[in-house]
Amino acid sequence: MIPTKGYAAQTPETDLAPWNFERREVGPHDIQIEIQYCGVCHSDLHQIKNDWFPGVFPMVPGHEIVGRITKVGDHVKKFKTGDLAGVGCMVDSCQVCDNCKDGLEQYCQEGSTQTYNSIGRDGVPTYGGYSNTIVVREEFVLHISDKLPLAATAPLLCAGITTYSPLRFWKVGKGHKLAVLGLGGLGHMAVKFGVAFGAEVTVLSTSPSKKDAAMALGAHKFVVTSDPAQVKAVTGSFDFILDTVSAEHDMDLYLSLLRTSGTMICVGVPSRPYSIQPFSLLGGRKSVGGSGIGGIPETQEMLDFCAKHNIVSDIEMIDIKDITASYKRMEKGDVRYRFVIDMKTL
Ligand SMILES: [Zn+2]
Ligand SMILES: [Zn+2]
Repeated sequence: MIPTKGYAAQTPETDLAPWNFERREVGPHDIQIEIQYCGVCHSDLHQIKNDWFPGVFPMVPGHEIVGRITKVGDHVKKFKTGDLAGVGCMVDSCQVCDNCKDGLEQYCQEGSTQTYNSIGRDGVPTYGGYSNTIVVREEFVLHISDKLPLAATAPLLCAGITTYSPLRFWKVGKGHKLAVLGLGGLGHMAVKFGVAFGAEVTVLSTSPSKKDAAMALGAHKFVVTSDPAQVKAVTGSFDFILDTVSAEHDMDLYLSLLRTSGTMICVGVPSRPYSIQPFSLLGGRKSVGGSGIGGIPETQEMLDFCAKHNIVSDIEMIDIKDITASYKRMEKGDVRYRFVIDMKTL
């Protein structure tokens, strides 16, 4: 077994603190990565607090992992020691169901194995990237370009693919008006991808103070949704709204901003069900869809796209000892736009 250092929550009531545990030995199809940086996703906080479902404790969060490969199994073909590598939200799936065969492992019909807060197919709990090293089967490891700043690449593994995948699936691009709802870790990546795909991008936000930041990210327009005149001016105008908001919000209001046959795409996870008036949909043939992360082939495609177009996340680097304070700031939306832990501080 491989002795590993990490930060874990022992129960939903306790803060993260140093914890030593073991990783499995590197099997023939496994890759061991020395973790250099790990992004801090809002879902890390939700999961250690049991907000969505009862978790597996002790819990080592972290699913935006980048680092360097220190060991590969005998049968590993696509990676070698010394390569940069990334791991996102999943570390395993059945590999044989229709979805897995289509490269949609996130929708594996048996359920994909999450990078942490999951029981692996070997029966052992999975532990995430707030740690110094991880062992993952080759199929779930991504190539990372050395052209991009490594720390800022980490959030692409969750925030990046979560926004890239739906924009690709719904073929958002030139000639489309895309609204991005919420300007956090997900929203700021959605703006970058929307712009890169050629759409006209509008950021919808309740806070006028975010306008400069939105424009700096490349957004073409900014609408303050608490201002009725600004809302009226964009009513019935968007082809797509990418909804990244995890707090409760007025779906009927946002659906009214879609043009006829427009689509609202949900990637945020509010803790209560959405409430939607049927007339908000049928009065204009509108759709509401959802999308969860992305499969491994598409995650690699996204990383390659980012390397080619020089796209990374805007980050604030933190020491791991400051994780609890950073969570408090994240809860207030006070981060531009993703915290990334420098794992040298572990
Ligand atoms: Zn995430
Ligand atoms: Zn499967």
